[in-house]
Amino acid sequence: MVDQKIKSFYSNEELITHIKSGLPTLFHSSQTSTVIPFENIKGLLNPQTILGNLSTIEGHLEFTSNNDLFVSGFVTWKEAKDFCRSHGREIMTSPTEELAGVLAGIATSCTGERSFGFKNLRSQIVELHYLDYKGNENKLSADKKLLLPFDLTNYHNDFAPYLNFKNAPYPRLLVETDLMTGTEGQLGIITSAVLKTILYEEETYLFILLPKWEENFEPHLEIFHAVQAFRNEIRACEFIDSNSLSYLPAEKNPGKNQDIVFLEVRKSNFDTVHENLLAKLKLTNEENIFEMASGKCRDLRVSVPRAIFEVNSRMGVSKKGTDVQVSALKFRDLLTFYRSYTNRGVDYNLFGHFGDAHLHFNFMPTPDKNDFCNHELERLYNKVFEWHGSPFAEHGIGLLKKKFIAPFFTEHQKVVFRALKKEFDPRGQFFPEGFMS
Ligand SMILES: Cc1cc2nc3c(=O)[nH]c(=O)nc-3n(C[C@H](O)[C@H](O)[C@H](O)COP(=O)(O)OP(=O)(O)OC[C@H]3O[C@@H](n4cnc5c(N)ncnc54)[C@H](O)[C@@H]3O)c2cc1C
Repeated sequence: MVDQKIKSFYSNEELITHIKSGLPTLFHSSQTSTVIPFENIKGLLNPQTILGNLSTIEGHLEFTSNNDLFVSGFVTWKEAKDFCRSHGREIMTSPTEELAGVLAGIATSCTGERSFGFKNLRSQIVELHYLDYKGNENKLSADKKLLLPFDLTNYHNDFAPYLNFKNAPYPRLLVETDLMTGTEGQLGIITSAVLKTILYEEETYLFILLPKWEENFEPHLEIFHAVQAFRNEIRACEFIDSNSLSYLPAEKNPGKNQDIVFLEVRKSNFDTVHENLLAKLKLTNEENIFEMASGKCRDLRVSVPRAIFEVNSRMGVSKKGTDVQVSALKFRDLLTFYRSYTNRGVDYNLFGHFGDAHLHFNFMPTPDKNDFCNHELERLYNKVFEWHGSPFAEHGIGLLKKKFIAPFFTEHQKVVFRALKKEFDPRGQFFPEGFMS
């Protein structure tokens, strides 16, 4: 039950007036964050923190002369995608939850299915504008180095091993736009952004039926290693296990007690992928491979996490899910670790961004198993630390993951967070309970 003061904004002018008041506020957009339980936030925020709704600010979309997409105000990923397609263009980021806000996506450094082929949103931002604590609008460019009045050498040295991950345990802070990317609204409010787009090309989906990963994940690993050489042809390489699929109505479930991996490929690349990759798999028969139309696939993809969310809501528990990405070398270790979770008397499921070694394992606990699951997750995060993996590669830290991220921060990160807050949020008004505090 929400017990915070709520304020909706209908224009940037109203927002500026509020920012100038200095009142502590957690600004939000669609509230689809899985790490901020907006429905059950009482006790997690200071009582005086206001929930500031940005989703009431009218959105605007247009193309720049370079065919980049200009987004201002509240625009969902679905609206941005439809707008681009109606102009023969495409955005390269595709989070599974399409009703999330585009500008919020920058704040959470959101990724998604297409990161396999196009990397993450961070690399697609050209420039953005944000409101600072004085209510002034500032421009940040992706082609300018981020210059701050304090030293970032140690911070960058610590970040280096994570450069190839979708997101590290802390924001990158290399170029100007990084200041608002993944900082979760703790340094200012993003009001507009310019994102790169590409020419639209029709896509198709190739589905591969696999045995249950708990019993045998060798065919899965064969596919994982094979797709790495096809990042130019394959845009997304996703996994949904038999447990996740079991939440769907039977007519929507393409497997029979089987897992699936599916590939998003341009229609023009279909033959290459089929002949040079799928036909060469030794552990998967061709009869287990089939094509699915994009609309049907999208429906399937979105239905799974939503169904899981509903089950958890009915149980009255917060999801105990992971967001771990590891290097290709550690993917077998990650799957082996997740397998150790499957005989603990708690329901579970596994799905996610398979090609990037980034999977969401979800415990589906009854309320009495909550503590047990928290303990098990701590064990996992110790391993992720050891493997130099990324504990929260796309959903961010918010409020729910603060406890688990703490061991990943050394004094180097804490010094920089304190300096950033002092410089950009001296009154502590932007999401004061966030991970930088
Ligand atoms: C079913 C499901 C699937 C999902 N799949 C993905 C996925 O594939 N990839 C992925 O990355 N995430 C995914 N998510 C997580 C979520 O959708 C993202 O974190 C998303 O970016 C949140 O957007 P939102 O509009 O809901 O933001 P909110 O939940 O409202 O806010 C999230 C954070 O952004 C900050 N924020 C919001 N707007 C602004 C702004 N204008 N300026 C500054 N800060 C701001 C808020 O302060 C808050 O810290 C999924 C969630 C669900 C429920």
